[in-house]
Amino acid sequence: MPTEETIKRAARDIAKAKRVIAFTGAGISVESEIAPFRGKGGLWERYNPEEYAHISTFRNNPEKSWQMLAEMLEHIKKAKPNPAHLALAELEKMRKLRCIITQNVDNLHQKAGNTSVIDFHGNARWLVCLECDRKYKLDDLEEIPPRCECRALLKPDVVFFGEPIPIDALRRSQEEAGKCDLMLVIGTSAVIQPAASLPIIAKRAGATVIEINLEPTPITGIVSDYLIEGKAGEVLPRVVEAVKKVGIRE
Ligand code: NAD
Ligand code: ZN
Repeated sequence: MPTEETIKRAARDIAKAKRVIAFTGAGISVESEIAPFRGKGGLWERYNPEEYAHISTFRNNPEKSWQMLAEMLEHIKKAKPNPAHLALAELEKMRKLRCIITQNVDNLHQKAGNTSVIDFHGNARWLVCLECDRKYKLDDLEEIPPRCECRALLKPDVVFFGEPIPIDALRRSQEEAGKCDLMLVIGTSAVIQPAASLPIIAKRAGATVIEINLEPTPITGIVSDYLIEGKAGEVLPRVVEAVKKVGIRE
């Protein structure tokens, strides 16, 4: 459990910063019951993500990939934002959060009410045709594996292993990381590239980097200035309440 002093330190840093952004990973959605790749429990104990969520598996054996994807998407459809997502939405409403760069594909930041979200690894809300790029809503999915009107296979509009980051998301994320003066790094082990380079870009540009995680990560104390150790769903609402008390400097 982080001390009140650590929470206040973060609140003061956020209050005095002019350009705050958040960079989130699978850990922020764990309390919404979406399993991270490396944690215990959930889908990824039965399906190795680097095999099932690899683009070559998808292309060579779509039925096999879609078996896992159907299960994953059902889960994502039902998931609800947790207090960590809601706290970030509140921070945006307070005009203290410029944007969120998320590695997650679960759409929970948008469901929580954030309007400025960069989906670094895509968003499972959409399906995209591999041939004609046409997009469909996940809610309209009927057959498995789903097909486009052009009869080609549909793929969730998320970045699979072996696929590049969408160029626009990469460019905008690098720009935001380079311009911010405070980055909250939440629930990510910060090892999967190129996403993991974003805290480094922020640090090099002189930003304060604060981590919120259950445990230290490879960037703790090297790239990040400090770690608030605890569950995002418990830490973030406390930090946001403390920011309100410190007052917001425009
Ligand atoms: P990751 O590398 O981001 O690791 C998860 C991190 O979250 C770990 O450092 C862990 O200590 C921390 N964590 C766990 N529970 C937490 C909590 N309650 N509060 C704060 N921190 C917590 O994630 P990964 O699972 O290795 O995923 C790698 C890639 O796959 C990323 O792009 C990730 O976003 C994506 N992925 C996305 C989802 C999703 O959309 N929700 C789920 C699984 C994987
Ligand atoms: Zn098509």
